[in-house]
Amino acid sequence: MVTRGAEELRSLGEAIFVAAGASPENAGVVMHSLIGANLAGHDSHGVIRIPSYIEEIKKGRLQPAAMPVVVQETPSTATIDGAQTFGQVGAKLTAATAARKASEVGLGAATARGCFHTGRIGEWTELGASQGFITFAAAANADGALRTVAPFGGKQINLGTNPCSWAIPRPGGKPPILLDYATSAAARGKLLVARAAGRPVPDGWIVDRDGRPTTDAEDFFTGGMLLSFGGHKVYALSAVVEMLAVGLSGGQRIPAGGGASTIFLICIDPQAFQLEADFYESIESVAARLAATPPADGVEAVLLPGDPETRNRTERLAAGIPLAESTWGEITTIARDLGVAHPAVG
Ligand code: NAD
Repeated sequence: MVTRGAEELRSLGEAIFVAAGASPENAGVVMHSLIGANLAGHDSHGVIRIPSYIEEIKKGRLQPAAMPVVVQETPSTATIDGAQTFGQVGAKLTAATAARKASEVGLGAATARGCFHTGRIGEWTELGASQGFITFAAAANADGALRTVAPFGGKQINLGTNPCSWAIPRPGGKPPILLDYATSAAARGKLLVARAAGRPVPDGWIVDRDGRPTTDAEDFFTGGMLLSFGGHKVYALSAVVEMLAVGLSGGQRIPAGGGASTIFLICIDPQAFQLEADFYESIESVAARLAATPPADGVEAVLLPGDPETRNRTERLAAGIPLAESTWGEITTIARDLGVAHPAVG
């Protein structure tokens, strides 16, 4: 493993994307997201993605300088065309638009189609929560070729990893309560991270091409599949996530091979329902009750959803971001190939 500072990785990544044709603005947004994912501890959605994004740009499928646009709106809703650029750029506009509408009318919803990979979904619900809104997000891929998960009870790939997220704002500048996960046993990116580090994945995440349980991430990339988690309950959630994100954005109309990611977000202003102080009193009382639960044997403490991300952020801002040597090697090779001048590549 190597450890690199967040700022060094951010400036190197921005320089790589600009050299590959991204606008400085888009490069800034995508690197903010990738570094934010690494800092939150979700390396699956961090700088490990740089090589695949560059590959998509080279193939002409990702338009690195395009800008997403609002194509339809009402006072409380908006539909956005992600313009086949970095999904983080489209998702950021979607979240900002939903939050703006919530600030105007109490409830704001927005959806985007035609995005590339939308990254760590919790980033977009955190954006709404940072403005005081309860925020929900559902994200899914409209391109069947990108599905990787077997539905509950099925023996064939027929679902995406369909992540969803809720962020509940807290008072006094505290990070929000954050639910943010794939509705599969793990995000596909976690298999990329395990493969890069040569580490096994936990039991129950994947099966190989013959449907046999395995802990070797390579088996997934050679024809295997991810399993759903939570039995029929999370399978049902996954189906609803896809219907919301693809159905409301119109993502099914994007031709296969283009930016197939879609996202749906809704921001709710608690003050449209309750006095702000009463709302926060209720949230803090639930949070305090849960955190005070005596931990089970072998568990250090009962955490709140979002605590792991906050802890990782504090630690990694101080100590740096750990990366597999192979990941760092790929990033620096891309930088050299693109003629990027940066201290990290000499
Ligand atoms: P995960 O299994 O690591 O779960 C993360 C969630 O669980 C967070 O809300 C975290 O705060 C909470 N959590 C973890 N430990 C906890 C504990 N002890 N107590 C309370 N809460 C706890 O997540 P994942 O499914 O591997 O997803 C990782 C990332 O991948 C997410 O950011 C997700 O948005 C992203 N993702 C994105 C896409 C996409 O297409 N853009 C697809 C899939 C996943």
